[in-house]
Amino acid sequence: MTRFIFITGGVVSSLGKGLASAALGALLQARGYKVRLRKLDPYLNVDPGTMSPYQHGEVYVTDDGAETDLDLGHYERFTGVASRRSDNVTSGRIYQQIITKERRGDYLGGTVQVIPHVTDAIKAFALDEQDDCDFILCEIGGTIGDIESLPFLEAIRQLGNELGDNALFIHLTLVPYIASAGELKTKPTQHSVKELRSIGIQPDILMCRCEREIPASERKKIALFCNVREEAVIPALDVATIYEVPLRYHEQGLDTQVLKAFRIDDAPPPVLGPWETVVKRVREPEGEVTIAVVGKYTGLKDAYKSLQEALIHGGIANNVHVNIEWLDSEIFESEDAVLYLENVHGILVPGGFGNRGAEGKIAAATFARLRHVPYFGICFGMQLAVIEAARSLAGIAGASSTEFGPCDDPVVGLMTEWEHGGSTEVRSTDSDMGGTLRLGAYPAVLLANSQVGGIYGRGEISERHRHRYEVNINYRDRLEQAGLLFSGMSPDGRLPEIVENPDHPWFIGVQFHPELKSKPFDPHPLFVSFIRAAVEQSRLF
Ligand code: GLN
Repeated sequence: MTRFIFITGGVVSSLGKGLASAALGALLQARGYKVRLRKLDPYLNVDPGTMSPYQHGEVYVTDDGAETDLDLGHYERFTGVASRRSDNVTSGRIYQQIITKERRGDYLGGTVQVIPHVTDAIKAFALDEQDDCDFILCEIGGTIGDIESLPFLEAIRQLGNELGDNALFIHLTLVPYIASAGELKTKPTQHSVKELRSIGIQPDILMCRCEREIPASERKKIALFCNVREEAVIPALDVATIYEVPLRYHEQGLDTQVLKAFRIDDAPPPVLGPWETVVKRVREPEGEVTIAVVGKYTGLKDAYKSLQEALIHGGIANNVHVNIEWLDSEIFESEDAVLYLENVHGILVPGGFGNRGAEGKIAAATFARLRHVPYFGICFGMQLAVIEAARSLAGIAGASSTEFGPCDDPVVGLMTEWEHGGSTEVRSTDSDMGGTLRLGAYPAVLLANSQVGGIYGRGEISERHRHRYEVNINYRDRLEQAGLLFSGMSPDGRLPEIVENPDHPWFIGVQFHPELKSKPFDPHPLFVSFIRAAVEQSRLF
């Protein structure tokens, strides 16, 4: 029997609903329960794949190739449960399904309406693929009061009735501190809950984000006005590291209150040792290293959420704090790279799209190669490192990617281009931008005796992809003669997956996104090794 927990947010956005959901999932899991987390997003995009990382943050890719909300990354990092396509839905996808059915005539002449057709589709999504889970946590995106959220709230209200004792509602709000009055204010929470109740949802538990302790008197007041038990008003205070959130929520009684609301009285106590270890390592590092991330969306850290976390995980494994210097690659196109990169212990060029700033990233790769600074190229960062090697090591002056337009030497291009007589004409006739990339998990075979072979400690791996262009296999021989090793290939040998430079202490480019699979208690081996190389680099200074 699966129990459902619905998590909504009120007052303002960006309260960390995704993290709160992930942390609750982790706590229930720590008590031995099987959990799964889902995100229901009210916006009209079919998926976040086409949304700008500036607006929406990173697109998180699942093994089964779905482009999803970045909260799924939190879920996976906190619970270790691999997310799937069936864990994220948007209004856009729901409407797309319904309209397709309507055009096919599936509704037999009936009128198609928000209630019941849209709400039924939302309920079906929430209830799908229960996998014998003890708990399924469904986070509703957006904030109470948004027009788009209404069908979702109506759907979970109905589920509340249908599931009865097996449904629970948690509402996350903000209790602001007004400095001029020297007071915490509960009114926004009261209003938010009032709004929720007007839709027919009475929250069972309130989580109150607050920058300082919430006194008992205020908790009592919130409980009274919002019609919840006093112990079910859980303060959610700011913490130094996100990995502390499960521990603090447990102290505040969150998991206990959830179990109580479900009338579960025989739950085992949570095993929190692994979380305590992670937090201790984050809080008490033995040293520090600085990594430059040379990218495009450096103004918004959420655009590289998983990357940021994976670097932290690499630090946890090496007992060091990782300072990240976010550098906009365009600065290297006009200024001397040395200025910015002289004091960093590692350079990472992450995934990216388009021409802008690409030459700057190539300049960063040149600097890393010449100065023997550890270099980690991810996806775009790998493709640009290959172009760099082609130009500087193999003497192929016109080397480029057809992503930037036709070129003399398409060292990176669409597979269809070189498999059809080598024309570099950009052949993509897709008018649809969504879902046209190579997405999801693909296997790769590692070369024995290579650096990556040693790092992974096995011969075959599976990693997640999100890209359209590939390193052109026709240049392999020339690049290998010039000193770049193709150490990871697709099993059929057609697609380069990993390159490394054996004449360099740590210079690795990967076509996939290893950051998506890194977890605090199971850091990705490439990040562990990269940070270790950065620690060694720091000792050279
Ligand atoms: N723009 C490149 C491609 O489409 C790389 C994509 C990425 O880094 N995720 O292949």
